[in-house]
Amino acid sequence: MSKFFDSRYEEMEAYVPGEQPADRRYIKLNANETSMPPSPKVLEAVNSKEILGMGLYSDPYCTRLREAIAGVYGLEADQVFVGNGSDEVLSFCFLSFFGEASKICFPDITYYFYHTYSKTYGLDALEIPLKEDFTIDVKNYIETDRHVIIANPNAPTGYRLSRNELREIISAKKERLVIVDEAYVDYGNESCIELIKDYSNLIVIQTFSKSRNLAGLRLGFAAASKEIIEDMNKIKFTFNPYNLSALTIAAGTAAILDTGYYKECIEETIRIREETAENLRAKGFYVMKSHTNFLFVKHDKIHASEYYLRLKEEGILTRYFKSERIKDFLRITVGTKTEMAEVLRATEKIIAGC
Ligand code: PMP
Repeated sequence: MSKFFDSRYEEMEAYVPGEQPADRRYIKLNANETSMPPSPKVLEAVNSKEILGMGLYSDPYCTRLREAIAGVYGLEADQVFVGNGSDEVLSFCFLSFFGEASKICFPDITYYFYHTYSKTYGLDALEIPLKEDFTIDVKNYIETDRHVIIANPNAPTGYRLSRNELREIISAKKERLVIVDEAYVDYGNESCIELIKDYSNLIVIQTFSKSRNLAGLRLGFAAASKEIIEDMNKIKFTFNPYNLSALTIAAGTAAILDTGYYKECIEETIRIREETAENLRAKGFYVMKSHTNFLFVKHDKIHASEYYLRLKEEGILTRYFKSERIKDFLRITVGTKTEMAEVLRATEKIIAGC
């Protein structure tokens, strides 16, 4: 730490992303990315004309991208905010709406960044324990006066709430904000986006990193009332007006419009997920029901931390979390058919030696 580092940040805990090792080629199933290529329309859109035009700044309003997203979800463009990954969108939400006096809550087991943001922005954050079976107790979130942030489906557990359950939470107390992080919503779940028409205290966030095969592009968006989006834009324009590059805008616009292509990729991922879950269960694993592009698994014969290391030796990267309640589980991203066949082959070998 340099002597210039502001003391406000001394207690801050940086988020630790999944490993991105350069030492050898791994099958990368540790960050819920996809190995599927983006839509061919994305390749067409990121063409030499776009690249030759990069002597000029990108559109700070990201108009065509916001219009395209709005068109797909039946919204107006001014109900959509776009950012450099949904992490940035989440960060803009925290910056725009929560100050030191703000009280917020989220599950004790969820996307760790909520904890990180809360620390960064000095919030009063309450981590509400999930039930014993890792499901969310909706009652807790109906009763609290705190702002709420919920990943739906949740990560790394993979469980989901229905739109009606979320509606109950959102409508219970309209003076608090409810942020629903729908990073994994496309893998067979109900989105809450349509609820923004009825509830001005709701922000729904989605990403292009999962179902749209574009984690490296860095693109996410928020859908909310025009007033909320206006507030977020005000903060963005005081911080980084050109937060999306011209290439991101071009690629993202092409991606969101190619709904047919992504539907096929999602269906394929769900098929592979269910097949892999079944195969792992047949090998004695407890596999939690997943509504996402990852599986959360454990086995009586081998501890998750050991399984993680052994898979790594076999050239497969997964994600192990040390925290107390989930230390027996390993999170495995659902990759391609070939990648998952490799996971099953390696697992068979590992289990046979236990
Ligand atoms: N929310 C959840 C629940 C996530 O798991 C992730 C990333 N894995 C994100 C948000 C961030 O996604 P990105 O910044 O790539 O859009």
